[in-house]
Amino acid sequence: MAELTPIPFGVLVTRLFRELERKQAAFDLPARSFVHRQPGRDLSVSIHGHRASTPFGPAAGPQTQLAQNIVLSWLAGGRVMELKTVQVKDDLVIPRPCIDMQTVGFNVEWSQELSLEQSLEEYVKAAMLVEMLKASGFAEGFGDTVFDMSVGYDLAGIRSERVRAFLAGMLDAGRVIERLRAEIPEPWAHLRGLSFQARISDTLTLSTFHGCPPAEIEGIARFLLEEIGLHVVVKLNPTLLGREEVRSILHGQLGYADLVVPDAAFEKDASWEQMAGFVGRLGALSDSVGRSFGVKFTNTLLVRNHKRFFPAAEKEMYLSGPPLHVLAMALVRRFRRTFDDCFPISFSAGIDAANFADAVALGLKPISVCTDLLKTGGYARARHYFADLTRRMEAVGAADLDTFALKAYGHAEGALAGLGLPAESAASCRAALARGGDPRAAAGEAFDAWVSAARLLNTETYADRVLADPRYGAARTATPPKKVGSALALFDCLTCDKCIPICPNDANFALEIPTGQVPIERLVPGAGGFTSELAGVLELTKPHQIANFADACNECGHCDVLCPEDGGPYRVKPRFFGTVAAWAASSSLDGFALEATAHGVRIHGRFDGRAVMLEGRGADQRYSGEGFDLRLDPADPAVTAVGHADGPVDLTFLRILERLRDAMLASGATNYVSAGLALSESPLPMRKESGQVLPMA
Ligand code: SF4
Ligand code: SF4
Repeated sequence: MAELTPIPFGVLVTRLFRELERKQAAFDLPARSFVHRQPGRDLSVSIHGHRASTPFGPAAGPQTQLAQNIVLSWLAGGRVMELKTVQVKDDLVIPRPCIDMQTVGFNVEWSQELSLEQSLEEYVKAAMLVEMLKASGFAEGFGDTVFDMSVGYDLAGIRSERVRAFLAGMLDAGRVIERLRAEIPEPWAHLRGLSFQARISDTLTLSTFHGCPPAEIEGIARFLLEEIGLHVVVKLNPTLLGREEVRSILHGQLGYADLVVPDAAFEKDASWEQMAGFVGRLGALSDSVGRSFGVKFTNTLLVRNHKRFFPAAEKEMYLSGPPLHVLAMALVRRFRRTFDDCFPISFSAGIDAANFADAVALGLKPISVCTDLLKTGGYARARHYFADLTRRMEAVGAADLDTFALKAYGHAEGALAGLGLPAESAASCRAALARGGDPRAAAGEAFDAWVSAARLLNTETYADRVLADPRYGAARTATPPKKVGSALALFDCLTCDKCIPICPNDANFALEIPTGQVPIERLVPGAGGFTSELAGVLELTKPHQIANFADACNECGHCDVLCPEDGGPYRVKPRFFGTVAAWAASSSLDGFALEATAHGVRIHGRFDGRAVMLEGRGADQRYSGEGFDLRLDPADPAVTAVGHADGPVDLTFLRILERLRDAMLASGATNYVSAGLALSESPLPMRKESGQVLPMA
């Protein structure tokens, strides 16, 4: 099984900035999908006292595991990054596949697949890349970003030396930054002088395991607030609704009759009363220590594994997506009926382009997404969230998110009624509403209370609305992606390109390889040298080919689900490793690795377990494998081949290696492998204009 291997910082920098320069894209996200500041609109929110330019971000999960994922989320408009949960047990074996997006969204994922030390470095790399992008002219006035940590899963683990070291590293990443700063390649040397923030994060969302005892949750939150000095959010479970309400919504209203939430899930998780108790106490504690405290709705819902997607040993799986949205909104309503708008609520459950603006109108922050970004289009889907939010803000004449919350559902008048304002002030607020004036100016100091009251009313309206909305029901979400019945092969496919953006790690990529038929020779050794006979034809018909970068692929299985053909792109398509050592260590996997040598670029390949190697350029190349070691001119192998061969040598693999190597070395190639090669050779000078690296089209 392939394991995630962090991509060296220099490779990430090289790939990111070359791709922006050459293709107006970043990690395969086209520049047209980047989300930029919208003039005249303030989408910013305060997260624990820190400004974030938008309330949107990736949820702790597959989109925040590696540095490039976080950068992609940022380019897609994410300004609150919920980093993937880390824990002391950082050498877990995660079952594969682990993400099932056939219907609503299930997973058997867990915490970071990297070690604690690697995780820290990935998060620091991401923060530095974001700063480098900002310094290169991206996100002017739109760059306030909050990185939010997540730890699990019990107090003993969180108090351990290694988790403490992780937390300390995130609070002061100075040493890691200095090491990485020196790794910024020469073409971007002017960015080495940036004053990268040493404090990557001082906020944390606590990810408690399903079934975590309430006293343990409270103990962990206390430790983080008091001893580490963090702002803390506790992620709560949907089981808080109680078994009757969960089942009534899931089965009765939404029609997910096949989903079974085991009784034990309700018995082990905190009850509503227990939660209300510790939330009240932790809120008081956070006030006393000068930190902020909030809750998050919601964790995934534990259900029985009734499908055949995950390994049979997995008896349970975690539900996300549309049904979780309805459950989580029921929780938000119930929580606000208990606590009003006293605690900030972070929200992550079935958010998509059609409901993001509603979550904003409820004043939820941050609003984070995982499942929807795994659907066709991947990170590019986020721009539709902002398009819809902008449209709706425009429709009600709101220039900022508080004013939008006030007006979004027409509850501004109703909210005003409960505030008990003097008649004159209330009249001026009403006048501002009626004439399209500025309600903030009209309400003065009462504006925040007015917005809070509107959020509470919005919550009631929206929670009712989603319960009745068929888009969340089983009938609308039951159809898996279509398969066409053909099997994937190493080259050629439907080239729908779905598998590229839907990979959260950007592990799949396109390669340009000339189409056409290539005759395949077989070299037959004889007394006077080699003779040649025709062995077949290699035919490529598609304008570009799909490949996979093994270091960034954790074999989650997701691209197999969305690919219309059978076999799984990550299994069948050419698999490249970042280093020859990684290729050699993964001897059970077919694949390729390139390295720069004194004799030119060398490409290693493994086909059905058989290793071959091609080295050099032009008329003098070395091609070797088990039982042969030849020098030849690939343009005329029969005449030029010298060396030894135990028997006939079929040149199919040579023709494949040639094509893959040339595609990787092509000037337009922008992927992790070509970036690594560029870094190991002399770096190409980049265009720089007025301190900007990247004049964007
Ligand atoms: S591998 Fe599958 S998903 Fe990827 S481009 Fe080919 S057909 Fe489409
Ligand atoms: S390439 Fe496919 S299997 Fe690999 S990480 Fe990406 S989506 Fe998952």
